[in-house]
Amino acid sequence: MTISGAAMVGGVCGAPVKHSMSPLIHNAWIAAAGIDAVYAPFAPTLESFEAFVNGLRGGAIKGLNVTIPFKERALACADTASDLARMAGAANLLVFKEDGSIHGDNTDGPGLLGAITAQAPGFDVTAAPVVILGAGGAARGAVAALLLAGAPKVAIVNRTLARAQELVDAFGDKVVAADEGALPELLAEAGLIINATSLGLGGGEGPAADFALTPENAVVMDMVYKPLRTEFLQRAQAAGRRTVDGLEMLLRQAIPSFEAIYGAAPSPEVDVRGMALKLLGEPC
Ligand code: NDP
Repeated sequence: MTISGAAMVGGVCGAPVKHSMSPLIHNAWIAAAGIDAVYAPFAPTLESFEAFVNGLRGGAIKGLNVTIPFKERALACADTASDLARMAGAANLLVFKEDGSIHGDNTDGPGLLGAITAQAPGFDVTAAPVVILGAGGAARGAVAALLLAGAPKVAIVNRTLARAQELVDAFGDKVVAADEGALPELLAEAGLIINATSLGLGGGEGPAADFALTPENAVVMDMVYKPLRTEFLQRAQAAGRRTVDGLEMLLRQAIPSFEAIYGAAPSPEVDVRGMALKLLGEPC
């Protein structure tokens, strides 16, 4: 497929951006859809992010995914924003309108829920409390999506309790902050347990959690996807719990992004998971 001078342009920006899998995923979907479009990586400097984004206003680009460390600053650049982005305090997608305005959205939360639907079919987020380990940006986005989806209670367990408390302050009384000591009690009633810390990234141990304490139908998810089968997920699997991996979340957040940027649905025929696994050096 040739890219013409009228091609729709989309992309991803981050610092660094060179490890992003988004160009691979989106360009495969573009090729399958046969549309005149391109998806490119951009690496603005830490100082130049706002100038870069504002310079794209008015039609230079259709949409831009945003990754670490710019998601909060991306939301601040947006003129309008979705409820999810506002609740998450971060935008991972900016859509550039022809009138020069920018709309911010957050597809990480829908990505998380989509991954659970795909890998733990039938799971009901409204049925039991959620335990999130970690209180950073990823945890915040997860809390927003889970509350909007009807989770009855979300407990945040974090090394730095004050950071977990910030989420309680932001989201209200359905969210509680706890330290590791409260974990056994929280796990005993949990329907969903999510690792949103960076523990386990690149191998090594994930956060402590005795999955034998959880209800038998509990689902365990790890946002970390390098390696794919993290130590955290391996422990959950050994305890007989259903698991959801972080790669599926990453792939699922790309779907609404593609739709918003190019106005077309990505083809389910493209094996983006297989492509991503190959890139990660994981067996397909
Ligand atoms: P942040 O840096 O904002 O937060 C990191 C979190 O990990 C904090 O809660 C921090 O605790 C905790 N943490 C870090 N080191 C330790 C440690 N040694 N012991 C205990 N806790 C620790 O990162 P993000 O929230 O942006 O990302 C978290 C993870 O989620 C990353 O691995 C990231 O790659 C992954 N992610 C995956 C996505 C996907 O699509 N699959 C999307 C977004 C993120 P403290 O507050 O005490 O420092």
